[in-house]
Amino acid sequence: MSYIGVKYILCFNPIMANENKPNIIIFLIDDAGYADFGFNNCNCDLKTPYIDFLARDGLVFTDAHVSSTVSGPSRAGLITGKNQQSFGFECNPSSLDCGLDLKEITLANEMKKANYKTALFGKWHLGIKPQFRPNMRGFDFFYGFLSGGRNYFFNKNYDCTENENALRLNGKPVSFKGYLTDELSNKCIEFIEKNKKENFFIIWAPNAVHTPMEAKDEDLLLFKDHPRKKLAAMTWALDRAIGKIILKLQKENLYNNTLIFFLSDNGGSPENDSSNFPLKGFKGNEFEGGHRVPFIVSWPSKIRYPFKFSRLTSSLDIFPTCLDAVDKLKTYNIQLDGVSLIPFLQETEKGSPHNRLYWRKDFTFSMRHDNMKLIKVKDLGCRLYNLNADLGEKNDLSQEERNILNGMIHDLEIWSDLMIKPLWTEDTKWNDVTWLIHRDLFNNKQITVKNPDELEN
Ligand code: CA
Repeated sequence: MSYIGVKYILCFNPIMANENKPNIIIFLIDDAGYADFGFNNCNCDLKTPYIDFLARDGLVFTDAHVSSTVSGPSRAGLITGKNQQSFGFECNPSSLDCGLDLKEITLANEMKKANYKTALFGKWHLGIKPQFRPNMRGFDFFYGFLSGGRNYFFNKNYDCTENENALRLNGKPVSFKGYLTDELSNKCIEFIEKNKKENFFIIWAPNAVHTPMEAKDEDLLLFKDHPRKKLAAMTWALDRAIGKIILKLQKENLYNNTLIFFLSDNGGSPENDSSNFPLKGFKGNEFEGGHRVPFIVSWPSKIRYPFKFSRLTSSLDIFPTCLDAVDKLKTYNIQLDGVSLIPFLQETEKGSPHNRLYWRKDFTFSMRHDNMKLIKVKDLGCRLYNLNADLGEKNDLSQEERNILNGMIHDLEIWSDLMIKPLWTEDTKWNDVTWLIHRDLFNNKQITVKNPDELEN
């Protein structure tokens, strides 16, 4: 190609891109319950009008799963489009040395290559040391915190210090006023205002609705008689924050051509009063409540008829869907573990994105094959459920369906052998808690312990 040809592309491509390619926003919520949004539960006692609006304009995925039951590995899978066990990020980071393998390419890296302005607002949880931080992993802009969770208000014990919980503007710890969920929304709107003439890629990942249970007084007042008062107020603030971003997109006439994902990073947790009804289990375990999450995809200019999508889908599909949206998937030559959802959004593809999905976290395993679900835990054995007949995973079929059980165990072992050993594991107390919870849930019993503080010595 001649120099003039190159110059021609450099001059005109960005304008073409801005006209045709969508902006992309991933709303990645923390520890939210499957049942705790109006769009997923018509009897929901929490108020989520803006998120429900997003759902009405898009597709609600009722059988969508994150790749891990806890935050760090789930985010590692989403941002690489690969099973995180393939590069050892299998468990939550357990020391300052842990981080997303520097050889892995992130979705932000790819979007930046596609001339997008890239930003992360909120939680990172993929490494603390300088080389692991968002600005080194494809994000032009970072306004958030490096750790797995923090307070919702300025905390003098760590804000404005080098502590991993401190709010940072790119590399620099900064002060802030007010409520963090609002603050992350306001900063995101500023970013959109500044970059509205460019294509932008945003991951908006608030602490909400993870513990600690902290809300603004005015929001608490609205729900003063609510049985889950704090969660209701935190969810109301979350919805308001997302609503403000949606209204900004609409005001700038960008909404119709913005590809938006909304999901939780793992199932709801007993620590924040969330509900995964009618699913069994919760964050950190292999039952459906651990990894089946609320999940919306919206792209109004492309989705003709919004509907509920009930086929098996993965958060690993977000990476290839984004590449497809910017017309880079066909030429992408790195193996990904998800598929583009765009043919499903447009109903040109009628099948399921996946007929098998696999999970592994240290000594707990699970697998889906169509409607069948296998759970396997070290020293506890296996459980087998037919989710079509038994979404609540109560009726174990492992004795009567031996052929299906053995076939799925075989598949799971083959998949597991393709992965590497975890580069780190969680501390032994959390492992004890996780094992005890699985033991109780295997036997359809109430859990006897939910965190290490409740362990007997
Ligand atoms: Ca989480």
